[in-house]
Amino acid sequence: MTIAVFPGSFDPLTNGHLDLIERASRMFDQLIVAVGQNTAKRGVFTASERVAFIETEIADLDNVSVQVETGLTVDFMRSVHATVLVRGLRNSTDFEFEQGIAGMNRTLAAEMDTVCLMAAPKYQFVSSSLLKEVAQFGGDLTSLVPPAVAAGLRDRLERE
Ligand code: ADP
Repeated sequence: MTIAVFPGSFDPLTNGHLDLIERASRMFDQLIVAVGQNTAKRGVFTASERVAFIETEIADLDNVSVQVETGLTVDFMRSVHATVLVRGLRNSTDFEFEQGIAGMNRTLAAEMDTVCLMAAPKYQFVSSSLLKEVAQFGGDLTSLVPPAVAAGLRDRLERE
């Protein structure tokens, strides 16, 4: 049985993330979405808010679950007996970034592999950070994020 982990900030979940979750859930026996805190990014939503958005959207996917991860991804993966780390690639910037992280993770845990899935063309330009900027100025995000996330973004950014 192959258990895969898809780690990320998910601040917030986008349809690009969801597309990756659905595709990875068909490739592996179990998929755990691991919500972490990217040390370089300040969060708009708390970890439990981010988990709640994801839980709603994965309700119909039997082999997918979501957890908060606080330490090193490879330590989390060991604790859940996962051997595959899933990430997404939108462009060459993602590639450079993922190549570094995959190399580091490989050094920390030689028994694990990183599998990168290409972003769907229609979501190639979708990033949580860009969406937050658009939301700040009242842009329509309904085709890019789940409805609850669109409402959450409006609510959160209006209050700031
Ligand atoms: P992190 O801060 O760890 O990069 P993100 O939530 O920004 O977390 O992204 C998590 C993963 O999802 C990354 O591998 C990223 O490349 C991937 N990803 C983000 N947006 C998309 C998208 N639109 N399509 C496919 N993969 C994506």
